[in-house]
Amino acid sequence: MSIKVLVDKCYGCKVCVPSCPFGIIEVIDKKAVIKDGCNLCGACVSTCKFNAIEIVRDTKTTIDKSLYNGVWVFAESREGKLANVAYELLGEGRKLADQLGEPLVAILLGDNIESEASKLIAHGADKVFVAEAPELKYFLEDTYTQVIVDLVNKEKPNIILMGATAIGRSLAPKIAARLETGLTADCTNLDVDVAEKNLLQTRPAFGGNLMATILCPNHRPQMATVRPKVFKPLAFDAARNGEIVKVDLSKMTWDLRVKILEVVNEVGNSVNLEEANIIVAGGRGLCDPKNFAMVEELAAVLGGAVGASRAAVDAGWIPYSHQVGQTGKTVGPKVYFACGIHGAIQHMAGMQSSDIIIAINKNPDAPIFKIATYGIVGDVREILPLLTKEFKKALGVA
Ligand SMILES: Cc1cc2nc3c(=O)[nH]c(=O)nc-3n(C[C@H](O)[C@H](O)[C@H](O)COP(=O)(O)OP(=O)(O)OC[C@H]3O[C@@H](n4cnc5c(N)ncnc54)[C@H](O)[C@@H]3O)c2cc1C
Repeated sequence: MSIKVLVDKCYGCKVCVPSCPFGIIEVIDKKAVIKDGCNLCGACVSTCKFNAIEIVRDTKTTIDKSLYNGVWVFAESREGKLANVAYELLGEGRKLADQLGEPLVAILLGDNIESEASKLIAHGADKVFVAEAPELKYFLEDTYTQVIVDLVNKEKPNIILMGATAIGRSLAPKIAARLETGLTADCTNLDVDVAEKNLLQTRPAFGGNLMATILCPNHRPQMATVRPKVFKPLAFDAARNGEIVKVDLSKMTWDLRVKILEVVNEVGNSVNLEEANIIVAGGRGLCDPKNFAMVEELAAVLGGAVGASRAAVDAGWIPYSHQVGQTGKTVGPKVYFACGIHGAIQHMAGMQSSDIIIAINKNPDAPIFKIATYGIVGDVREILPLLTKEFKKALGVA
């Protein structure tokens, strides 16, 4: 795709200039000139009253889309154990596959990992491809890309979903580039256009101020990454049937540029935010960094983790690793306490799938109350100690 100014139609009226979110349009000699940096958002196209700006779309389908079938999920694992995001993607993948009338397939890579395949079937997969080799014991972009690209070229899936984790974020772009197809990162919602078999990939755009639905209509497979905790897994069903297929890697010449000598796990003393069942998060409404102690105390009493808004992180009140939201972590605990957090769209993007949201805010009109299950209007510095006291009493904690 490209953007073009139709010079015959352009009168140099300058209406398009302020419409460009990137400020890259200038009018020179009464003609609009679009400089480098255009991301083809189309804002100037719809603003121009003279139809003088056009997005030239590549509508040519270079592949036979009817050959592509199946929704694939990359079953991420670490140290031989499946990551939760694999189950979450299978839950969503099941819905998409049923709508399309296509099979749901998981791809599992590792060494001695076949025992995990039945869990993927119990969580919704119709079929699992298992690729086992000592070279696949630890994640390496090169080897994992080799195996997956080979398999995709043979089997031709319609859709591939991966977790927007450290592994998925480095693997997915490499695979997409090799397959010469598109990739939408960090989707927050997925759906399908059944007639065209297109994946509708929704994600925040322009700093989270709008949600964009992105399509990959001319290439296959369609690829998307989704953050952990965005989707819910299906319940484990041991009665589900599926096929487990071993991938033949006997003729593989490994592309090994990196060798893993040792894996050292970081030892942390706090609960992992993304895996926590209870999160107590604090925002600027705590008014002072020392008041984070109240958040920490409630989290400790409930056995939960401490989260924070970006305002609290930017103020230096708490490290970035605690930030929840679009540019922080996406969480989905059973209970999320939002303490003195306003409820900006970028914060809510990271916690709105929590089962129960308890908001404490002195402003009854704060947007956080719109998504809260329970709302407490008042000063967080008074309410937090009261809650902690009552929970201590109820739980018999000294
Ligand atoms: C590209 C981009 C990405 C972003 N990513 C993130 C992100 O990942 N995570 C994130 O959180 N934000 C993110 N933001 C910032 C976001 O827009 C907000 O600025 C931020 O979430 C505000 O944090 P806050 O709610 O703590 O602070 P504020 O907006 O200042 O809100 C404080 C709230 O506390 C209440 N309050 C004040 N005093 C008290 C009191 N004594 N008792 C009770 N309530 C009180 C106020 O009524 C108010 O509602 C991002 C912004 C951009 C542009």
